[in-house]
Amino acid sequence: MATETFEFQVEARQLLQLMIHSVYSNKDVFLRELVSNASDALDKLRLEKLWDDSLDADVSDLHIEIDIDSDTRTLTVRDNGIGMSYDEVGRLIGTIANSGTATFLQELQEAKDAAGAEGLIGQFGVGFYAGFMVADEVTLTTRRAGESRGTRWTSRGEGTYTLETADDAPQGTSVTLHLKPADPENQLHDYTSPWKIREIVKRYSDFITWPVRMMPEGSASAGESDGTPEPETLNSMKALWARPRDEVSDDEYHELYKHIGHDWREPLETIRLQAEGTFEYQALLFLPAHAPHDLFARDSKRGVQLYVRRVFIMDDCEALLPPYLRFVKGVVDAADLPLNVSREILQQDRHIEMMRRRLTKKVLSTVKEMMTKDQDRYATFWREFGTALKEGLVTDPENRDAILTVASFASTHHDTEPTTLKQYVERMDDAQADIYYLTGESRQSIENSPHMEAFRDRGIEVLLLTDPVDEVWADAVGEYEGKKLKSVAKGRIDLDAKDEDAPGGEREKQTEEYAGLLGWMKEQLGEDIKEVRLSSRLTVSPACVVSDAHDLTPALENMYRAMGQEVPRAKRILELNPGHRLVKGLNQAYKEREDRTGLAETAELLHGLAVLAEGGQPKEPARFVKLMADRLERSL
Ligand code: ADP
Repeated sequence: MATETFEFQVEARQLLQLMIHSVYSNKDVFLRELVSNASDALDKLRLEKLWDDSLDADVSDLHIEIDIDSDTRTLTVRDNGIGMSYDEVGRLIGTIANSGTATFLQELQEAKDAAGAEGLIGQFGVGFYAGFMVADEVTLTTRRAGESRGTRWTSRGEGTYTLETADDAPQGTSVTLHLKPADPENQLHDYTSPWKIREIVKRYSDFITWPVRMMPEGSASAGESDGTPEPETLNSMKALWARPRDEVSDDEYHELYKHIGHDWREPLETIRLQAEGTFEYQALLFLPAHAPHDLFARDSKRGVQLYVRRVFIMDDCEALLPPYLRFVKGVVDAADLPLNVSREILQQDRHIEMMRRRLTKKVLSTVKEMMTKDQDRYATFWREFGTALKEGLVTDPENRDAILTVASFASTHHDTEPTTLKQYVERMDDAQADIYYLTGESRQSIENSPHMEAFRDRGIEVLLLTDPVDEVWADAVGEYEGKKLKSVAKGRIDLDAKDEDAPGGEREKQTEEYAGLLGWMKEQLGEDIKEVRLSSRLTVSPACVVSDAHDLTPALENMYRAMGQEVPRAKRILELNPGHRLVKGLNQAYKEREDRTGLAETAELLHGLAVLAEGGQPKEPARFVKLMADRLERSL
């Protein structure tokens, strides 16, 4: 097959431009990225061979090799791992599949200055393309294990790349960088220097479980004449999770995190756990400092890796942590599992189940510790992952209390500082029995909702919940420390229950006085409304609509529908403010008039206004507008 030239996908081209113009200052990390990919490729081959013994591949000496040549100024990173087929090279190397790329590039364009761009690249990680920070041409030669023909990919990173078949390619992948001239002032070091390579590998890739070997210069690949050269192994290959805490530096932990998490930034927290006994395992988990772009995508991936006795078994092992902790990265190394354990078996294994419970508790207790010891870190954690964690309130009843303990929420108590439920309860006065909350799209829309009026008036704190998941968990959880969680938009709210509700009290008088109007309005509004009643939550607005205590709110109904579930529309309750002039006048007119045609329209308008005030839409917007316009005209 002849050499073919292809264009990079637009996003890939943009990213390459950034690499070539080196917006990222620490250029050394290119080697970490290439070694990381090589290590993954060796893991993949070992596993594939394990599952399919007939695979025609040599797994006797899996390793990574680094060759440098100062004459030609090239550096080659070679592995004898899984390799790539011709199609795979085009797909994996010519395009960027990451679902967050579009968002990332958008942010990058908006960042404008170099510091902003560097931060963003750091948060995205660019893998293989990092080579273009130090090289003006990159050649990748690869042959997939089990296939006979290899592929050669070459590019200068400027819009196009070429692909050709390579008959002589050994199994695995080699990436050759034609290095740019060294420019130490811009942190572009001389990567043909053995001590520089030693230093970089030691610093970033020491824990890689495969040997990273450096060939003495000039002895590389085929054709050496002076006997077999002795390669030097650069990494210790020691599993960090198996080493005592005081022997491992934070930096070493962080580099492992970067390798596993495909993140260029430091993690927020490192969690170690060693379990002895019948089922022995070691875990090293990390809480990232930033949520990935795809945290809420269906196929969001890359969590915890499973090892068995230091041997990599699988990536993204979903059996080790519940879905709401999917952002946790790390390694779990179990002593007593068979090497060919499958995902299906893991899902049913009793020991794994126990491990998951223990790891889950450990993560949650770490967050709790952060909360008491380091408020800022906790705040970062909650800002980035709180929304995901709250899913656990619904899906993991066993840890509900632990999650509620570490959860914090926006509240009317403070404009910007969130509150925990514990703090809320501490602030409650004796007369307040319940914890109040309101859900909605934004803090502003919630604060301005008519449902809030009486609460604002009386200075009663309300939690302001704006995540879609809030609708669900608040219902599911029901209470905290014996205090009911109560939506201010659902059910009856009787803030001064004591005096008002007493027989002969204000409430009873009002109910009598309005009984006729309420019954008549219910008839007028018919289908749309379950009940019309007097409100004790309004002080300014004439009316509002609320849901029955056990009905779904409109937002929740919409959410279920968006997920494709059929749910009947729950009828709402219309509440009138007996203290409002419009409502008083309406009652007066109702009692005095025989012909109530005009009043029926007023009732309809009042209902429409209440629906609008909570961010909804009147059932027939055009009719609503017409009635309203007529009224306005008459008032001129
Ligand atoms: P990432 O490693 O974050 O997925 P890269 O751009 O570094 O992104 O690599 C893209 C893909 O190319 C990898 O996911 C892998 O499938 C493939 N790849 C890269 N390097 C190698 C290699 N040395 N051997 C086999 N496949 C590789």
